[in-house]
Amino acid sequence: MTACAAMAATAAAPVIAVDGPAAAGKGTLARRLAAHLGLPYLDTGLLYRAVGRRVLDAGADLRDPAVAEATARALSPADLDRPDLRSAEAAAAASAVAAQAGVRAALLDWQRDFGRAHGAVLDGRDIGTVVFPDAQVKLFITASAEERARRRFLELTAGGAVAEPAQVLAELRARDAQDAARAVAPMKPAEDAVLIDTTSLDADAAFARAVEVVQEKIGPRGRDLV
Ligand code: C5P
Repeated sequence: MTACAAMAATAAAPVIAVDGPAAAGKGTLARRLAAHLGLPYLDTGLLYRAVGRRVLDAGADLRDPAVAEATARALSPADLDRPDLRSAEAAAAASAVAAQAGVRAALLDWQRDFGRAHGAVLDGRDIGTVVFPDAQVKLFITASAEERARRRFLELTAGGAVAEPAQVLAELRARDAQDAARAVAPMKPAEDAVLIDTTSLDADAAFARAVEVVQEKIGPRGRDLV
């Protein structure tokens, strides 16, 4: 049975939560898992990046909760297609607005509607803990800070950005610390998440492990899907 046929045959399509810190490989993994399973994919980090970007464009204070929440409520799908969401500046702005309860509340229904419609693979920081605490599969993807910084440096420079390795590592650590320490929806593995450390795994090995977990969690249905 193809993945799509399997999806049509199932009553409620699964939600797969893929959380973890920056540059651990969760985006690549989640996108590949979604394509493989025939499920829609949402990079939830883009939502926060787009909000941060719009606040910066307006010349407003990233830590002003009223401005940030109003921006989140006014977000349109076109904002997610902006070409300037991958920069270090957008990442830092995303982390600042993401610490605010009003912003998170404004984006919650959007993410839930996306996942509930046809099932989905969503990657982020709080998918398994807050957005979809009942997700059928929860993965927490991590890697050492040094390895993640190395990957982020290569990604930034491949895209033409000028970057300094030590600064990339420092920014990544600062963002992780802010994401993990915030009062609302902090980054942390759900109690029932399966941890995958990709420090010494290449993308194929990480994907193979994720597919194994999907099969273990969804059982026969997982076998149909993959
Ligand atoms: O995943 P990405 O690096 O694009 O996320 C950018 C920032 O958005 C994160 O550092 C985090 O502050 C925030 N974020 C979040 N919750 C999510 C996804 C991203 O707080 N579900």
